Amino acid sequence: MKFSFKLVLALVILFFLYLYIFKRGGIFIKIDSDNIIVDSQESDHEIIKEFAKGMKSDNYLNAINHKSENLNKENNEYQKINYDFEKLLKYTEIEQIINNLNKSEIVAVELIGKSVDKRNIYSLSIGKGQKHILFNANIHAAEVANTMYIVKYMADLVNKYEANDEKIVKLLKDVKIIVIPSSNPDGYEACLFGVNSINNKKLYIYENKDNIIFKTYKGNANGVDINRNFPSQHGGLYYQDNELSEVVSTKPSIGYFDYYPGESLGSEPETKALMYWFNKYLKEAYAFIDLHSAGRVIYSGKPNLSDKLNSYSYNLAKIVSNITDYEAYGKEAEDVGIGNDGTATDYATEIVSDFKFSEKTGRLTANKYQNPEVKDVNFGAITLESLEEYTFELSTIKKEYYNKNLAKVYTSLIESYK
Ligand SMILES: [Zn+2]
Repeated sequence: MKFSFKLVLALVILFFLYLYIFKRGGIFIKIDSDNIIVDSQESDHEIIKEFAKGMKSDNYLNAINHKSENLNKENNEYQKINYDFEKLLKYTEIEQIINNLNKSEIVAVELIGKSVDKRNIYSLSIGKGQKHILFNANIHAAEVANTMYIVKYMADLVNKYEANDEKIVKLLKDVKIIVIPSSNPDGYEACLFGVNSINNKKLYIYENKDNIIFKTYKGNANGVDINRNFPSQHGGLYYQDNELSEVVSTKPSIGYFDYYPGESLGSEPETKALMYWFNKYLKEAYAFIDLHSAGRVIYSGKPNLSDKLNSYSYNLAKIVSNITDYEAYGKEAEDVGIGNDGTATDYATEIVSDFKFSEKTGRLTANKYQNPEVKDVNFGAITLESLEEYTFELSTIKKEYYNKNLAKVYTSLIESYK
């Protein structure tokens, strides 16, 4: 009797000790003062509604410090890749192309995370330069075209490098092009090849397959819009006196203009993979291009950031617009505080502007809310929407690539550092 009482007491004490340590994150997490954690001066006087919770600081640190793997290079030689939109590529076929690209000495492939349904998420680095430009494709499930565009572009680029094309060899000495061909591979596969390609039948996307409109579906396998799930300054928030934007949703997406940020920001494995990627590569970057595919427009404005960043971004948008006739939007086109934030470009531009994670808000913060002056940077980010509307039709996808000269668009963006 006595013995078991002591044992129970010891267990209870151990349990509370464990909770204490775990809650504080002390033993498991090294606090990295470079990235975090400031005591935010962020005032919340104008922010009254939070429809997605902020991120816990230990989650945040885990996300940006996670270990990634480099894909081993096979010893056999690079083979020229011929892809000209003959077919819609399955994700496994994209992986084969990635493996082949990896055989070129100018390419390095990194596995930066896994999707909800356990597909690999890759980042390819092409080039040896000190200046970095980042491309991300397919964060929205149904926007599959831009994955094929950037795969086609990378294949042609590396083919030319391998054939000793002088211009490309020189370019890749100056820059490093860093590409995520698909940051939503589950969505890619489900939209293009049917929801039966989802392995885990217990996931939201499979269980709700009869209600989901796959033609315009944006979410990941949990129904979360990765592109609203970032812990940026205004992610998951809206202001006093504002209505929540009608395109924003407070429940999982069914695929018609219902951006759902999730219950908590940074909750999705795809978001975490991107956060890691941004924190690793943005330090040397001059641009981030987020490739989407609906609407033939380019968004570049960030009202909470510096004029310099906004004009740099708008210049990138104009580069695209001059070649394609897509419409370029700047800062004036952005509505702040209606719940539409938390995007990849929000997060990326705030990281570059030296925002820090705030334990108090669970989001990034300028840490000088009273002083709205934000760091000036030579960096721009755009959301580039190709195609008139959502489509899985190969001939329409192919036509846009050639008629709008998207290869020239990507090259001009890469050369924009000059
Ligand atoms: Zn999109």
